[in-house]
Amino acid sequence: MIRYLLPENGNFYKANLHCHTTCSDGRGTPAEIKETYKEAGYSVVAYTDHDVLLPHNDLTDDTFVALNGFEFAVGEFNKPWALTKCCHLCLIALDEHNLIQPAWHRTEYLYGRNKEYRDQVQFDPTKPDYLRAYNADCVNDVIRLGKENGFFVTYNHPTWSLENYEQYSKYVGMDALEIINTGCLVEGYLEHNNAAYDDLLRQGKQIYCIAADDNHQQCPTTDPKCDRFGGYTMIKAKELTYSAIASALKNGEFYASEGPEIKTLWYDEDTKELHITTSPAARIICTTQARRTRMADLSMQGKLVSEAVFTLDELDGYARVTVMDDHGKCAYSNAFWNL
Ligand SMILES: [Zn+2]
Ligand SMILES: [Zn+2]
Repeated sequence: MIRYLLPENGNFYKANLHCHTTCSDGRGTPAEIKETYKEAGYSVVAYTDHDVLLPHNDLTDDTFVALNGFEFAVGEFNKPWALTKCCHLCLIALDEHNLIQPAWHRTEYLYGRNKEYRDQVQFDPTKPDYLRAYNADCVNDVIRLGKENGFFVTYNHPTWSLENYEQYSKYVGMDALEIINTGCLVEGYLEHNNAAYDDLLRQGKQIYCIAADDNHQQCPTTDPKCDRFGGYTMIKAKELTYSAIASALKNGEFYASEGPEIKTLWYDEDTKELHITTSPAARIICTTQARRTRMADLSMQGKLVSEAVFTLDELDGYARVTVMDDHGKCAYSNAFWNL
């Protein structure tokens, strides 16, 4: 039996799953973001302004899907800001009509421009105002509320957040880890979270990985601090509609990248062979639960690789693939299980 880890049929749609606009502390308006991302070849943007879930369905058309979401943050206080640990989650609504914001507080937490949108936020008035505290119980509660209420929940930029194993090993239930965050990378944070992803997977957490811009700026792409068009997620869906994109997200039918392409990825359950085809790459690496990493690399022969086959077995636990091009740019597949 062949198991398609990226669907056999459908189209790839380029997505930025973490974005800030003038509705919080970003510089571009939602419409400007749509236009510039479309020009750059994107079909999907998740609007995840800080703390306010707002509808952007007016931006969705035949060529573009605007996903509605928000970014939740909780952190330490009473410390210099540069030393405070925090946890940020993006909650992306899986249904375009789902606009009730979970974990909402009617008077606290908003700052800057998102305060102007407070009255537009829809919430369940029978629920008490949600109080935040920086601990795993609160983070897990928000993840649970997000999942129960139909959101795709990502755990964002642990490197920038100064979170390490002690914190994130206690977080449960999120759908995905942000393995690349452009905004953090351009600020100089080493926001390629490979180690964190394997840490979570080796704990038995079955989560996906995404790449996103977390863009706030509006500057030329030649500016070294431009935080647009870096890490993106390639979603394979049957059509460009809100529901098809949401369902592909939920099913892990995507990969994260900052350049290289993963064209096909499938597993033959009989021969236990993992097959991948890619754009020309310096290396294709297969990482698993175990200390038995495998790699396709023909650089000694002066050649690039664009396909690989890795034979797996039960000891591998999970497997995921990294494709690195000859400039060091990477694409990351989701992990898969049941080898
Ligand atoms: Zn954040
Ligand atoms: Zn953000």
